Amino acid sequence: MFAELSDRARALRERLETFMAEHVYPNEHALLAPSREGKDKWAPRPLLGELQAKARAQGLWNLFYNHGSEGQGLSNYEYGHLCEVLGRSLAAPEIFNCNAPDVGNMEILSIYGTDMQKERWLKPLLEAEIRSCFAMTEPRVASSDATNIETEIRRDGDHYVINGRKWWVTGAPSERCKVAIVMGKSDPSAPKHKQQSMVLVPMDAPGVTVERALSVYGYEHAPLGHGEVVFRDVRIPAGNMLLGEGRGFEIAQGRLGPGRIHHCMRFIGLAERALEIMCKRSASRTAFGSTLAEMGAVRQAIGQSRCDIEQGRLMTLKAAWMMDTIGNKAARNDIAIAKIVVPTMAGAVIDRAIQVHGGGGLSQDFFLAEAFAETRFLRIGDGPDEVHREALARVELARYA
Ligand SMILES: Cc1cc2nc3c(=O)[nH]c(=O)nc-3n(C[C@H](O)[C@H](O)[C@H](O)COP(=O)(O)OP(=O)(O)OC[C@H]3O[C@@H](n4cnc5c(N)ncnc54)[C@H](O)[C@@H]3O)c2cc1C
Repeated sequence: MFAELSDRARALRERLETFMAEHVYPNEHALLAPSREGKDKWAPRPLLGELQAKARAQGLWNLFYNHGSEGQGLSNYEYGHLCEVLGRSLAAPEIFNCNAPDVGNMEILSIYGTDMQKERWLKPLLEAEIRSCFAMTEPRVASSDATNIETEIRRDGDHYVINGRKWWVTGAPSERCKVAIVMGKSDPSAPKHKQQSMVLVPMDAPGVTVERALSVYGYEHAPLGHGEVVFRDVRIPAGNMLLGEGRGFEIAQGRLGPGRIHHCMRFIGLAERALEIMCKRSASRTAFGSTLAEMGAVRQAIGQSRCDIEQGRLMTLKAAWMMDTIGNKAARNDIAIAKIVVPTMAGAVIDRAIQVHGGGGLSQDFFLAEAFAETRFLRIGDGPDEVHREALARVELARYA
C-alpha cells in the first residue's frame, strides 16, 4: 500500500535528525524550562530566533506546507516521516515553523483566504514574524458540539461586531500572537450548520482581552500556552470574513483534518523517544542484583511499547497516504482512527517510561512528564475521542443496517 519514501524526503529526514541532535536536544531545557516570570514568560525564548534562522538556512522550514513555493511541497505521507522526527521534542515544531495552531491557521488562509487576507496574515506567518490562534471553544457551552457556540458575529455596515468569551485558545497569550481566527454565530436563524462563520480578528483590536492563561496539569506551555480570551464589541472590517457567512463548519472540517494527523505524527516521535530512554535508563540502573533491563516487568513494558508504536505509526501513515490519494474528506475515518488511537498509545508508552525512570520520570529533569500532559490533552483537544468514536460507529452501523 505505501510508497517508498522519496529520495528528497529521505534526505530531508536525515538533515532533520542531524539538526535535532546538534541544536534541539542540547537546548531543549533552555527552550522549555518554565523559569521566566511575568510578561517575559510570553515573549519568545531568546534562542528561538537563532535556531529558526539555522533551520531555515538548511531548508528545514515550513515542511508541512504544500500550497506554494514557501514550503517544501511534500505529501502528507512524506511529511509524516519528518513530523515524527521533529515531534520527538516539544521544543522543536516552532523552530521549523511547523507548530500548532499556526500550521492549521496557515492551512485555512491558504485554502480559503482572499489575496488581501493572505498578504496581511499568511505571509508573516510563513515567515514566523507573527503567531496566531484559533478560538472556537467556549467555557459556557459544551463545545465538542460546535453548534452550541454562542459568540456573536453581527454585521454592522462595513464591519462585523464580535461579542463572546473563548477559552483554551492555544497561542493567545504569546506576545507575538497577532491574529485570531474566531468562530461564532452570524445567523442564529439559519439551518444548524449554516449559522456559524469564521472571522480574522487582530489581537490588538480594541475589545480583545486575554484574561488569563490556562495550564495543563500545571504546565503553562509558555510562550505558546493557552488563554481565556474575551471579545467585547470588537469591530473588524467586513473583509475579515473567511470564505463567507455561514461557512464556518466547512472551514472547520478543512482545518482539523491535517491538524489532527500532524498531532499523531508528532506523538509517534514522542513515544519513540520515550521508548529509547526507557531502554537506556533500564540498562544503566541496577536494583536487587540485576539491571532494570533484566527484569521481566520492564522487558514486558519495552516489548509492548514497540508493538504499540508500530500500530500507531502504521495507522497514521495510512491516514496520511489516504489523504494524499483520495483527499482529506474521504480519508476522514482513517484520520479519526489515528486521532483516537495515537494519543492514548503515546500516553501509555510515556507512562511506562515514567515508571521505569522512578521519581526522576515525574520531574523536570526528563521530557517525560510534560510529554505525558501533552498526549493526555489530545484525548480531549481537536474533539474528544468519544465524538470521533461516535462518528465511526455511525459509519459501521450504516454498513450493516
Ligand atoms: C490543551 C488544550 C488546547 C486546546 N486548544 C484549543 C484551541 O486552540 N482552540 C480551541 O477552540 N479549542 C481548543 N481546545 C479545546 C478543545 O477542543 C475542547 O476542550 C474540546 O473540543 C471539548 O470541548 P469542551 O471542553 O467544551 O468539552 P465538552 O463539550 O463539555 O465535553 C466534555 C466531555 O463530554 C464527553 N462527550 C462529549 N460528546 C460526547 C459524545 N458524543 N459521546 C460521548 N461522550 C461525549 C467527552 O468525554 C468530553 O470530553 C483545547 C483544549 C485543550 C485541553
